[in-house]
Amino acid sequence: MRRACVIGWPIEHSRSPAIHGYWLKHYKIDGDYRAEAVRPEDVAAFLNSLAVKGYVGANVTLPHKEEALRLADSVDAAAQAIGAANTLWLDKAGKLHASNTDAFGFMTNLEREAPGWKDKKRPVVVLGAGGAARAILYGLIEASVGRILLLNRSRDRAESLAKNFGGDIEVRDWSQRNEALSGAGLLVNTTSLGMVGKLPLDLNLAGLLKDAVVADIVYNPLETELLAAARARGNRVVDGLGMLFYQAVPGFEHWFGVRPEVTAELRKQAEATLGRR
Ligand code: NDP
Repeated sequence: MRRACVIGWPIEHSRSPAIHGYWLKHYKIDGDYRAEAVRPEDVAAFLNSLAVKGYVGANVTLPHKEEALRLADSVDAAAQAIGAANTLWLDKAGKLHASNTDAFGFMTNLEREAPGWKDKKRPVVVLGAGGAARAILYGLIEASVGRILLLNRSRDRAESLAKNFGGDIEVRDWSQRNEALSGAGLLVNTTSLGMVGKLPLDLNLAGLLKDAVVADIVYNPLETELLAAARARGNRVVDGLGMLFYQAVPGFEHWFGVRPEVTAELRKQAEATLGRR
């Protein structure tokens, strides 16, 4: 039996066991995927003994993503650029490989849910400059979008991301977020605003063209106020659940040898456990 896990601290909130558990059952694979609560001071010891513990790999969630990157023997381009790893696997020689699949997850979902979204002549507006924003900026730059307008409450974090990625990123003040929407082809919310238990995202969509795509990576609630408002005025919308599914695909394939499909049934199962607005 092949076994994998997700490590984090805390870990109870992780949705990864439900996703991988669904696929293991669906593909009738003799495998196991579980959550492991690992304290920050125990991450190195845990990852150094993955094989001894019977694991072929692991997902990594907060707050261990940077430490996992540091501990891996080999790191792919995405994890290196994003500065964090969320997917680990051991090869036959026992070498630990690290990747970051969040950019892949976001971009694959965007392509599936809003085909033709890319318009290099129009800017992409990204709200937020936290951990998730790093992955999304990497994905957008790799996809050769045109100009990116980056807005974050703490402007210095946005400046530092723009410097880090180098591409055509223009930082604007958080207070300019309504004005920044005019002419945009894609708007992405990567802040935690709008999430259950957090403040709402205060954004006026009036200046956004009706053919712009609006993506929110917050997935609880599934339809955030931002998405509901965008949908109501006719914009195409992309929710955060798909990113969560697609980021899980490469890990499952590494560990269990099958490239899993993101299906309506998987989505239905996850939706049942998520809050509605
Ligand atoms: P971080 O804590 O790293 O970043 C939070 C971001 O939200 C920062 O840009 C922060 O701004 C901003 N923010 C928080 N509070 C406020 C506020 N009151 N006003 C303005 N801006 C605010 O979180 P992550 O990047 O890891 O995650 C962000 C969201 O994305 C979460 O809701 C998470 O669940 C979701 N997510 C979804 C994924 C998916 O697969 N769909 C994957 C990863 C994350 P500042 O820098 O000023 O603090």
